[in-house]
Amino acid sequence: MYGNTGKMAKIDLTRGTYTVEDTAPYFKKYLGGRALNHILLFRETDTAKVQPFDPENVIVFGAGPLGGTTWPSSGRFQATFIAPLPYSGWGDTNVGGAIGPELKFAGWDTLVIKGKAPQPTYLYIENDKIEFRSAEDLWGKGVDECTMILHQRHLGSEVLLIGPAGENLVKFANIRTHRTSSMGRTGGGAVMGSKNLKGIVIKGTKGVKIYDPNKFLELSLQCQKDLMDPNFGMVHSLTYKIMSKYGTPGLTRLIGQTGMVPIKNWNQCGIWAQDTELVEYIGDKIWKRNDACYTCPVHCHGAYRLEDPVYGCFSGGPEYETTCALGHKCLEPRSKLVLKLNAMCNDLGMDTVEAGNLFATLMEWFEKGIIDEKFTEGIVLTWGNGDGMINLLEKIGKGEGCGKMLGEGPYWVGKKLGEEALKYVYHQKGMCATGVETRSTIGSMLQFALSPRGSHHLSGLPTAEWVNIPAVAVHTTGFAEAGDIRSYHPEAKARLVQFYENLFELP
Ligand code: SF4
Repeated sequence: MYGNTGKMAKIDLTRGTYTVEDTAPYFKKYLGGRALNHILLFRETDTAKVQPFDPENVIVFGAGPLGGTTWPSSGRFQATFIAPLPYSGWGDTNVGGAIGPELKFAGWDTLVIKGKAPQPTYLYIENDKIEFRSAEDLWGKGVDECTMILHQRHLGSEVLLIGPAGENLVKFANIRTHRTSSMGRTGGGAVMGSKNLKGIVIKGTKGVKIYDPNKFLELSLQCQKDLMDPNFGMVHSLTYKIMSKYGTPGLTRLIGQTGMVPIKNWNQCGIWAQDTELVEYIGDKIWKRNDACYTCPVHCHGAYRLEDPVYGCFSGGPEYETTCALGHKCLEPRSKLVLKLNAMCNDLGMDTVEAGNLFATLMEWFEKGIIDEKFTEGIVLTWGNGDGMINLLEKIGKGEGCGKMLGEGPYWVGKKLGEEALKYVYHQKGMCATGVETRSTIGSMLQFALSPRGSHHLSGLPTAEWVNIPAVAVHTTGFAEAGDIRSYHPEAKARLVQFYENLFELP
């Protein structure tokens, strides 16, 4: 077998056992990666009956056939499960870093994990061996500290972890890896927490078998060159130029010109005059170094240490989605505050998108008189109150006081408060939207409506529309209208979404 390893592990946390199965029969029908994950989820559990935190829920982790090879940006890794945050239950989240390739190096395509460990546990995978190790000493600790402990304990390994938010079943708890990367959305961290599974540590020393290694390397190098070539195409060169220096926050102004950046809980959109610190200052002055996922020439991630007596912190990121959610949507323009909030979310193991949307929604509820400070235990959450957000974030991550209720996420809190409150929650299928103002971009609106988990820019980002290049639009869909963000041309927009959904399904 080439590309894939041909092996998956079915792990039962309740019993502390695992079986090894052949993945080869699946590859006659599916390429692997996300598609295989979803098929396995439907086969391994009753998705109509099982609830997100039931031990019968299954988490499938999978790497695609290119993972672990020299192909650029091929280190993506997919998790699939019944999710607590979107009411569709569609748990679908994806990450870069190097954990996917490491799984392949250890000789596995896929892990299917079910049951509930009797006590806090982490999985240690070293090539063919899978061990169930006690995580009693890690439970309650933040992601940063646990990452350091596990890297020291298992030198040369890759680590996937949840933080206190996952342990406390915060519905928007994420799964972290590689210090700068998150499986951010739909609440996978809480599903791991419900299984007493603190993390997975992987160490592999095998390679990935390639049919024609020389030809493959030649094509990999060509693709890498193209991605960095300013003459290759506007989309790629622009993305590379901006993202490799400023990360995804560097795209804010570009997409803001089209009206796509949401501001003040989606009441406004476009360019926010006060976002200079969030957009330019972070990439230019704060990032200590750029970081890349496995084999990715774009290296869009950054790491920072903020020296400040009040807000001092260190972490990875922030991404555009983070600066938009905690900055633009909440009208918090101060980079120190946003960097502190980002570091807290990362260490507690929480999705910054849902956290930012939660605060923006609370701010609007305050403004409209739907809630008052009794609801937030004395914290008056007016627009731009970053300090109030910091106080609440700690409570949410640790499940303390009103934080327990807020950890349900804005849609579920709004539902309890009633119709009037729910009006101000900007969500799709119960999960809040990413930083894309879909009323400005008709293709994205259609894509988010069709995606079973709501907004999902990793399952079909219609970039031909974002950059509005007629030649690209015609080439990909046959219609110039597909590239016009304001056009409602039904066939053009349908073909646009279809093209990018198919493209993004490739592993
Ligand atoms: S470094 Fe950035 S562009 Fe490259 S794979 Fe990771 S997230 Fe994607």
